[in-house]
Amino acid sequence: MTSLNDLPIRDDLRGREPYGAPQLDVPVALNTNENPYPPSDRLVKALAEAVADVAGGLNRYPDRDAMALREDLAAFLNGDTPGAGLTARHVWAANGSNEILLQILQAFGGPGRSVVGFEPSYSMHPIITRVSGTRWIDARRDEDFGLDPGRAVAAVEEHRPDVVFLTSPNNPTGTALPLETIEAVLAAAPGMVVVDEAYAEFRRAGTPSALTLLPGRPRLIVTRTMSKAFAMAGTRLGYLAADPAVVDALQLVRMPYHLSAVTQAVARTAIAHEADLLSTVGMLRRERDDLVAWLRGEGFEVADSDANFVLFGRFPDRDRVWRALLGKGVLIRQVGPPGWLRVSVGTPEEMAAFRNAIKESL
Ligand SMILES: *Cc1c(COP(=O)(O)O)cnc(C)c1O
Repeated sequence: MTSLNDLPIRDDLRGREPYGAPQLDVPVALNTNENPYPPSDRLVKALAEAVADVAGGLNRYPDRDAMALREDLAAFLNGDTPGAGLTARHVWAANGSNEILLQILQAFGGPGRSVVGFEPSYSMHPIITRVSGTRWIDARRDEDFGLDPGRAVAAVEEHRPDVVFLTSPNNPTGTALPLETIEAVLAAAPGMVVVDEAYAEFRRAGTPSALTLLPGRPRLIVTRTMSKAFAMAGTRLGYLAADPAVVDALQLVRMPYHLSAVTQAVARTAIAHEADLLSTVGMLRRERDDLVAWLRGEGFEVADSDANFVLFGRFPDRDRVWRALLGKGVLIRQVGPPGWLRVSVGTPEEMAAFRNAIKESL
């Protein structure tokens, strides 16, 4: 049998592992931070109608610039962060925020260039960085998973990267960053600063978004996604807000017609039902806080979370615990520093199944 090593593959890809959160068919899937609530019947009907509307024109390419969708996304962000003052020209959309990040690195990274990130953080950041031929530099988070601004600035000054990744709230720890840390990194960074806000909608009241920093800072990019709070992971729609010049830069690397007409129509319909989709966020936040309290009550170490997942530990053998839970039909994620596990916040029934499984596994 031929293996990929028999092929003339790029040297820097040899020995690498693909992204691989297991996709297993289990009764309780709490491993990829999706919103557990499916679209309502009303929304399902609206989505089907929206797809039917574009179906008759699928012989034609879609709007390459996705202008109507970008207008809708800008309006949504202005509602999320009053005073953001965003227009369609400040917003760009792609197939998941992963594609957004790849386009950012295609435009601002590449061979001979580097990215600084602070791990433990989103496992796709180093993968996307390397895929784009950019060098990944891990500057580490603090022991408590926070990020001391002085240390972050020192790392940026030492490595002078072309791109810095900050994740807030951070995955897999749930830690939100204060704006002062982001401002300090921006002031020190010679290149672009990307704040990955995939979980922004779950942040605690009073935690401001990096969107508020955008005016007058053309090297700042804030990325968001419809995969998490928006409950549309299957749609594959990520987006960013930045200075219009950043959007111009991304047009140089994006594939023409990258966002299908179906994706654009589905995403616009979802945004039109924003209130419906985001109505579960309050419930998930309360479930998260209950979960943190319960795990602490059981004697676990638990990271403070501003997101829809919780990192807990520490286990001398986390693989054993992960397998024991899986044996009871509960799939969580082995991610983050050794000894820790991450569980996504599900429905009350799913969380009850998780709590029972944990108790029986120990
Ligand atoms: C889940 C996640 C994303 C999302 O990716 P999509 O491609 O939009 O589904 C991006 N960043 C972080 C930190 C995530 O956890």
